[in-house]
Amino acid sequence: MSTILIKNVNILTMNKDKDIIEKGVVFIKDEKIADVGNEALLDRYSPDIIIDGEDGILIPGMVNTHTHVSMTPFRSLGDDIPDRLKKYIFPLEKMLVDKELVKVGAKYGIVEMLLAGVTTFVDMYYFEDEVAKVAKKLGIRGVLGETIVNFVAPDAKEPYEGLEYSKWFIEKWKDDHLIIPGVAPHAPYTNDTIHLQKAMDLAKKYDIPMIMHVAEMDYEYRQYKEEYNLTPVQYLDHIGVLNKNLIAAHLVHVNDEDLELLKKKEVGIAHNVGANAKGAKGVCPAAKMYHKDMRIGLGTDGPMSGNTLDIITQMGLVGKIHKLFNKDRSLLPASEIVEMATIGGAKAIHLEKEIGSIEVGKKADLVIMETQSINMQPIYDYYATLVYSANTSNVDTVMVDGKILVENKKLKYVDVMEITKDLKNIQGKILEIVKKL
Ligand SMILES: [Zn+2]
Repeated sequence: MSTILIKNVNILTMNKDKDIIEKGVVFIKDEKIADVGNEALLDRYSPDIIIDGEDGILIPGMVNTHTHVSMTPFRSLGDDIPDRLKKYIFPLEKMLVDKELVKVGAKYGIVEMLLAGVTTFVDMYYFEDEVAKVAKKLGIRGVLGETIVNFVAPDAKEPYEGLEYSKWFIEKWKDDHLIIPGVAPHAPYTNDTIHLQKAMDLAKKYDIPMIMHVAEMDYEYRQYKEEYNLTPVQYLDHIGVLNKNLIAAHLVHVNDEDLELLKKKEVGIAHNVGANAKGAKGVCPAAKMYHKDMRIGLGTDGPMSGNTLDIITQMGLVGKIHKLFNKDRSLLPASEIVEMATIGGAKAIHLEKEIGSIEVGKKADLVIMETQSINMQPIYDYYATLVYSANTSNVDTVMVDGKILVENKKLKYVDVMEITKDLKNIQGKILEIVKKL
């Protein structure tokens, strides 16, 4: 493994004190950050590779805490249809989703994330082994779970077959250094109590994440109120499923009591503000969660829901939507939003000891944002620039585990033209089916 030195960057360490090092230097050895400091470090090392950051901003790789990458081929389809999940997405998936679609969608989606500075993503879908294989090949870190539902699914002839698949999938990937397998019941309303408990038993047995949509839908909230006189979060606690293995996506319909429970049980939170806004789901109390020091990170949700898979777009939306919703301009300053995008995301998936900040001993998952482009100047506050001025085209260099995957805004090991061709082929099939719907 070669050693790499990054110089001439403004480092947002995202450590506990949010230290910023201007004209900073990072030395990388054996996949990890071996030293972080100022220009004095330049004389200390003789690295194999030197990266000149050209006064860019160096940040920890961003974490997309919730998505379904393989839905990329469906992006922009039926965007404005009401009750789209049950009336549109589920039937479409039943007819179209196979291993090939999952593989092609994963490739395209992961490429999009890497080019946008996402170095870790949390995913749940069908044929998740295909996603894992693609992620591994492309070099991105993935927390991946096979979807479990109470109906016949694209890769399940019987309801809940996803649970058996999960056992096989977990065994296959449990010792991988890039892929963390999980178990992923779709939601409380698409899984009965026994299967939710079985899924959590599996998560506890292997000490892996259980990924699930929680309290996203208004009907979900009403259903649990009527049946149990509990909120969805209280119900999950009641059946023993609320604990630190859970990564809960959305949490739109939650009350203060729920927040206390989620904090106490150390549940990871994937906040998908863009997808929630577009789907008219409501606003998750993310600012309250942040101020309670809960484990909250940002997610995009699937590309049918949020349309983009990058976290930079989400950061701007988080600021704007929460300020507007709470009528408070000072709420969630930019540094707190960058925190959610990086170390917050790492905390949400319980990987904060390994990723999420630029500190000695952590994995070298790093992103250089260039500052030469017209939209990036002037800079008075690095965080504000990232949250409100930057876009994905400013991502210059991306590294996962000390391996440079994106250089000068281009993927080093991927032929994007070929991946796009595969996606177009799938799009042709989708169009044929949609015409019959
Ligand atoms: Zn989702």
